[in-house]
Amino acid sequence: MLMVHKYGGSSLADAKRLMLAASRVAQQVRLGHRLVAVVSAQGDTTDALLENAAQVSRRPSKRELDAYLSAGEQMSAALMVMALEAQGIPAVSLAGWQAGLTTDSVHGDARVLGLRGSRIRYELDRGRTVVVAGFQGVDAAGDITTLGRGGSDTTAVALAAFLGAERCMIYTDVDGIYDRDPRKFPEAKRYERIGYDEMLALARGGAQVLHDRCVELAKRYQVPVQVLSSFRPGPGTLVTEI
Ligand code: ASP
Ligand code: MG
Repeated sequence: MLMVHKYGGSSLADAKRLMLAASRVAQQVRLGHRLVAVVSAQGDTTDALLENAAQVSRRPSKRELDAYLSAGEQMSAALMVMALEAQGIPAVSLAGWQAGLTTDSVHGDARVLGLRGSRIRYELDRGRTVVVAGFQGVDAAGDITTLGRGGSDTTAVALAAFLGAERCMIYTDVDGIYDRDPRKFPEAKRYERIGYDEMLALARGGAQVLHDRCVELAKRYQVPVQVLSSFRPGPGTLVTEI
């Protein structure tokens, strides 16, 4: 079975957490599954990069900002592959452009258009686990774009849709989707299952767990998305058509 896993910044915040994420990927590979893992930048890397940029320019050009910010995810991807290789799992990291994830040219808030080329399939066919840098793509001019804050979720769902993956699992720091923020409201209730439309309303209303464009894509391509905790076992929440 082909699966897409996505690991967010908090799930990769330090070497120990990143190795834990790599172990989860490795475990599925050893069970015989084909895996594409999408990674965010580690911890608060993207915020730190934005601060660095702000120190050298008050109005950095959007093209260069995208080129700069995309590096955070690329570093995560390469580090994840190193961790996988250390566990004996053959793997390869790909930046968004190498993976062929095409977008429009709206730097900083680009929309995914498609998946060009067959690099990911070629690598999977060679028996390698593919780790794709999230949050980024390439436009028609060949320039790096980014998908907006939190955009790695969208990368994961887009890859699941275009590759025809059976599952898209989003590993994060909460154990599913709640009717309100469980960090603020202890009485918040977790959904076992939630429909795309209801999830979209939550995402647009400010629920931080999934990027709204990711939910739109999941609905359009009917990709079932499972939101799970990186740190605690449990069924999480299944986002699907209901
Ligand atoms: N690293 C990017 C951000 O912090 C993208 C992501 O995490 O999905 O917004
Ligand atoms: Mg993030």
